[in-house]
Amino acid sequence: MSFSLEVKMELSHIEESAECCRRAELAGILRAGLSLRHTPDGPRLLLATENAPLSRRLFTLIKEIYRFEPKISMLKTRRFKAHAVYRLDFSGLMEEGGRKVLDGIGLLADQASGEMVYHHFKTRNRCCKRAYLRGCFLANGSISDPDKSYHLEVAFRSKVQADEFMNYLKEFGLEPRFIMRKNHFLVYLKEGQEIVDFLNVIGAHNALMNLENIRIMKEMRNQVNRIVNCETANLSKTVDASFRQTESIRYIKEHSGLENLPKPLYQIALLRLENPDVSLTELGKMLNPPLSKSGVNHRLRKIEKIAESLGFDYKS
Ligand SMILES: [Zn+2]
Repeated sequence: MSFSLEVKMELSHIEESAECCRRAELAGILRAGLSLRHTPDGPRLLLATENAPLSRRLFTLIKEIYRFEPKISMLKTRRFKAHAVYRLDFSGLMEEGGRKVLDGIGLLADQASGEMVYHHFKTRNRCCKRAYLRGCFLANGSISDPDKSYHLEVAFRSKVQADEFMNYLKEFGLEPRFIMRKNHFLVYLKEGQEIVDFLNVIGAHNALMNLENIRIMKEMRNQVNRIVNCETANLSKTVDASFRQTESIRYIKEHSGLENLPKPLYQIALLRLENPDVSLTELGKMLNPPLSKSGVNHRLRKIEKIAESLGFDYKS
């Protein structure tokens, strides 16, 4: 199951007991989901979903609130072998008694022009705004698999609805973005945190936790990668330094002889030649008496300086 469907399944099972919110959610679903289709039998008012719990929820809501029963049919599509698409037919709402229902949620199915007309839908309560946002997402929203990327969008058929949706999101502190694609007005969120906040607003708490877990895993993976990269960089620096030291010592050996070095330098030069792979700390412990890391470093720097004065050029 896609993450999108997982979120919608969860939303479709939320117990919404307040009448005001049930109405707002229904309005959200219908406003975002209904489309006026032209068929050989005349215009039909349809909503399609592959989410069975959503089709049940929608059926129950509209039956309870408006005493209206949409006709449901199931289409098996070839595109998704295992998937069925549920088609709910609300054409009855275009008839005399039903128009009030559409009017109440700011919709007008204008049969003369064959176009759907969208007016504003106003709701005052914060609880209802959440429910309305949830309804819109249920009908026409999608969210990408968080393993891959962070993207959540809801598609609308009119600018009026998209603006309205964005305004509600802003009231909850979100910063939605907007783009037009083909005939659709898309409102989308791009940041992981924004998507988490949105799921919280619409009440998808399980999905929110799953998303948070994935975010934490991703963050940990990035941190581990950073540490590994950093260690690799340090390691190559160490190897580099050791190579420069042994080359300097060999140069001195060939050009003036190691035995001419002051005794402390002579000792460390021999040790370094014999142990090119050990750290400065370990090198220090091999001396009698032992020497600190910075002491070893100091002596090796002196050796490098002597090699340079004899004409050693590491880079060449
Ligand atoms: Zn409410």
